[in-house]
Amino acid sequence: MNYSSYLNRDYKPHAAGDTKRPPRLHRKHLHLLAIFSVTAGLVALFSPSHDAEATRQITQQASPASGQVAREEILDLPLPLPQQLGKSRSEPRQPQDLPWKSVTVRSGDSLSLIFSRLELSPQQLHAVVEADEGGKLLTALRPGQKLHFQIEENTLQAIKYIISPERSLYVTRKGESFNSNVIEHPVEIRLTHASGGIDSSLYQSGSEAGLSDNIIMELANIFGWDVDFALDIRKGDQFALLFEEHYLDGDKLRDGKILAAEFTNRGNTYRAVLFTNAEGQSQYYSPEGKSMRKAFLRSPVDFHRISSKFTRERYHPVLGKKRPHRGVDYAAATGTPIKAAGDGKVIFRGVKGGYGRTVVLQHGGSITTLYAHLSNFRRGVGNGSRVKQGQVIGYVGQSGLATGPHLHYEFRINGAHRNPLTVKLPDAEPLPAKYREEFAQQSGQLLAQLDLFKRVQLAEAGEQ
Ligand SMILES: [Zn+2]
Repeated sequence: MNYSSYLNRDYKPHAAGDTKRPPRLHRKHLHLLAIFSVTAGLVALFSPSHDAEATRQITQQASPASGQVAREEILDLPLPLPQQLGKSRSEPRQPQDLPWKSVTVRSGDSLSLIFSRLELSPQQLHAVVEADEGGKLLTALRPGQKLHFQIEENTLQAIKYIISPERSLYVTRKGESFNSNVIEHPVEIRLTHASGGIDSSLYQSGSEAGLSDNIIMELANIFGWDVDFALDIRKGDQFALLFEEHYLDGDKLRDGKILAAEFTNRGNTYRAVLFTNAEGQSQYYSPEGKSMRKAFLRSPVDFHRISSKFTRERYHPVLGKKRPHRGVDYAAATGTPIKAAGDGKVIFRGVKGGYGRTVVLQHGGSITTLYAHLSNFRRGVGNGSRVKQGQVIGYVGQSGLATGPHLHYEFRINGAHRNPLTVKLPDAEPLPAKYREEFAQQSGQLLAQLDLFKRVQLAEAGEQ
């Protein structure tokens, strides 16, 4: 899916009177932060994981280029690390002067097929697989993975198996049997900061700040409950975030998680912090511990699929007269999935006059949502069905009185229409009380870090 084209196309600056201001972009790596001290060894692979408390030290200095007085602040962040098992990170000793023969795993391949292609005996295969726990890893090969063999006159000496960029398995001959060990390559986690002002679209400004599509989408997902990224973005909106990047041997492997973020939309600033509880579940909360999620989606169609909205009161093109419009219309391609805005029950599914194919959901006692002009209903979602928030209930179309494909969406409280774009949505479950203290500590540190970056950014902007 190419989000960029959607996002580029869909975001338009709305405020006409804004003074022209170049987007302020900023991105800085914190100097070498944390080596995810990963351990080698099979015990770790086959025993339940333990949380070991460790401290990650972050040292932040103004960049030398800025010419500022270097400032240094040290923050201690608690970070769960895999239990240390004291294994080496160096490769085990290999037979010298024996070339490695590389094999790429094909679709439908197995270790025994590979062994027979290499003319290695079934006895050796057996010895490898039975060697110890490590041999079992070789029974779960995936196409495209690489295996390297050292073979001397049809006698296997060693196998090197690249399980992932971070993990390799070594199987080495020891007399008539084999030993194995897993080498974990240390992944370095760098904490990165990025921020920017939105000039035309979140996607464009995010890209200019060096953010990947994934991080931009993630940012939009975090704040998508409060900000309608399809309809509400204005020139001058701003974002700032603190996120992890994973590096291996100096090369970036992938983006990690967004740890803290801030989004200012039309003068309202929203902040979010990631909190991971003792059970390993992660969720974003406001600094006050409220869930960033809401009991209702702000928009029942994915924001990057929406091309425009219509005015709220308009001359009805089909009826030929002006009439109040009591919902929001999201223009999107026919067939675009429509999601249930919240948990609820289907109380109507059928054709409803000018609404065409329509679904009405009842949420709790007082709230109903209505979805109209559908091209089709989702199979299996009928009258009386229970639906979960985000579950697809139908598809955008133009049934009933509609001039083009769009979703007509209404939100009612006790039968009275409310503007779905501005209605105050009920919160999802807040942070459980037992985590409050831990959360306060974690979030305080992360937000302090985010503020620190913003101060450095402001100082640098002031010098230019
Ligand atoms: Zn409408």
